Amino acid sequence: MSDIATNLAEIKARIGGACERAGRDPASVQLIAVSKTFPADDVREALEAGHDVFGESRLQEAEAKIDLLPSSLHWHFIGRVQRNKVRKILQRFEMIHAIDSLRLAVYADEVASEIGLFPKVFLQINIGGEESKGGFEPDAIRSEIETLLSLQRLEVMGLMCIPPAVKKAEDSRPWFMALRELRDELENNIGVPLPSLSMGMSGDFEIAVEEGATHVRVGSSIFGKRAYRVDGELA
Ligand SMILES: *Cc1c(COP(=O)(O)O)cnc(C)c1O
Repeated sequence: MSDIATNLAEIKARIGGACERAGRDPASVQLIAVSKTFPADDVREALEAGHDVFGESRLQEAEAKIDLLPSSLHWHFIGRVQRNKVRKILQRFEMIHAIDSLRLAVYADEVASEIGLFPKVFLQINIGGEESKGGFEPDAIRSEIETLLSLQRLEVMGLMCIPPAVKKAEDSRPWFMALRELRDELENNIGVPLPSLSMGMSGDFEIAVEEGATHVRVGSSIFGKRAYRVDGELA
């Protein structure tokens, strides 16, 4: 097996283990292989190992890659969404993980209507209240969720977060719990299901799964070390 195939198998086994500990069905967790900075050949290697869901965070880089690969692949946009790139991102990606403001959501909804799409999106929450990170503050999402859900075109899957950097994986747990509890609170208040939680990366995806993640975004543990950091943060 190639390194990528071996790594994928290991990550999937670890997701399985976390599901077992949490009494969850492994089919309820989608692994998104984050291929940013890695070439199309690496994506192809993952595909040959049987994995077909990938995450990218920069449009231009992703477009070049998507064009080189079979159209059957599933692409998730996990980076910050710039307004002037909304149209192309909607056209190229099946799911968008980081809708980070009401203004952006309203605009994406308008564009989706123009081009005839019903995009699946996550709302990014600044769960640690960090200056450097984008996303809705918990109080903002409490007051804006009904407006967000009233948008005709966006299908809101649930919440996403990139928690503060921590020393060990276990330290991420309170942030993942906080995102799940915020989701539960919103569901209770508005009576609309928000079934999905996009949380957990290479360093902490098992903890995230134990806390209810339905989508984990794992890059370096599959493809190797990378030159650039996590997106979804303000530059
Ligand atoms: C890069 C990135 C990831 C993957 O990070 P790894 O630590 O390499 O697994 C996940 N989510 C977002 C938003 C990213 O930008």
